[in-house]
Amino acid sequence: MIKYKCSICDKVYKRDEVKYLCPDCSKDYKPGIPLKGVLEVVFDYEYIKKNFDKSNFNWNLFSAVEPEYFPKYPVGNTPFFRIDNLGKEIGFENLWLKNDGLNPSGSLKDRASFLVVAEANRIKEKNIVTASTGNAASALAAVCASDNKKAIIFVPESSPKAKLVQMYLYGADVIKVKGTYDDAFRMSLEYTEKNPGLNRNTAYHPLTIEGKKTVGLEIFFQNNFKVPDVILIPVGDGVIISGVYKAFYDLKESGLIEKLPRLVCVQAEKSSAIHNFIQTGIYKNVDNPNTIADSISVSVPSNAYLAKRAVEKSNGFSVTVNDNEILKAQKTLASKTGIFAEPSSSATIAALLKLKDSDLFNKKEQIVLLITGNGLKDIDSVKI
Ligand SMILES: [Zn+2]
Repeated sequence: MIKYKCSICDKVYKRDEVKYLCPDCSKDYKPGIPLKGVLEVVFDYEYIKKNFDKSNFNWNLFSAVEPEYFPKYPVGNTPFFRIDNLGKEIGFENLWLKNDGLNPSGSLKDRASFLVVAEANRIKEKNIVTASTGNAASALAAVCASDNKKAIIFVPESSPKAKLVQMYLYGADVIKVKGTYDDAFRMSLEYTEKNPGLNRNTAYHPLTIEGKKTVGLEIFFQNNFKVPDVILIPVGDGVIISGVYKAFYDLKESGLIEKLPRLVCVQAEKSSAIHNFIQTGIYKNVDNPNTIADSISVSVPSNAYLAKRAVEKSNGFSVTVNDNEILKAQKTLASKTGIFAEPSSSATIAALLKLKDSDLFNKKEQIVLLITGNGLKDIDSVKI
């Protein structure tokens, strides 16, 4: 039986009692601050424990929407493999890569869009609204196209052209916002207040975290049911890192694992609100986030509180990298592994290169780089 629990006050809600945030804790919420009262899905962990079978892994045990509502759109099942060529060069014995840029629309965001569209099928909703830096929008547009839904998208006009082209071709209604992702986020919430339709904004709709969680479950499955020691994750809004945390949290609550992987929050130097929050304990918006890593460029990260918790509960840490380090890392990754990651994802390898000789990493441990977006979505940032 699926329930929702508020991440602040712990109040538990029945499935259809709430749609977005905890009504009590979000009373004071207004766009311009991180979300308050983000909901998390609670499963029957005893049931999962009883029914889990390694020889026949039933993913649906961990799904917040029943499979009969799933869109007919294949997401996930992306490659997870060891990158010895790069690992040897920088002295890491057990370096791995999860290439989620190979999802159908080219980013990990397909996972969240898939689950929100499934939820739309369950509650019989045709229109789905979102704000995005580009990847979530193209992912939503793609999944909606496959399932006869209408995607209504608020996106900064500065979004990379390839992502805008995707949205148009998939047939979404695209509202280009003269401003930042944060402006698009605010406008999409205003739109949702006045119009019918389900809002897919990241963390605002709790199933975005659940959708992104599947990448963590998949890593566990592809790693022969072992927990990696460390996972490096690019962080903008803080939802992907919360999703990866939720995957291992669910596995631990179900008694299937004993420890969590250490989660490393990687942010761009000029878009580092969550990093600063983790370091100082004081939350502050970032003025004018300005980085080539557009997917993680955000002034007000909607899921700041849960991202901080994911790092702290997993004994991880946070780090920032600058644009030069990101571009250099993008080239290193591509030329040593054959994987072309977009700048935000390349930030993970930039962080590893920056800290490779620090005591934050043990070079014998299994370390995973999470690649969340395909480099072909943003070729203008590459200087040749
Ligand atoms: Zn609450």
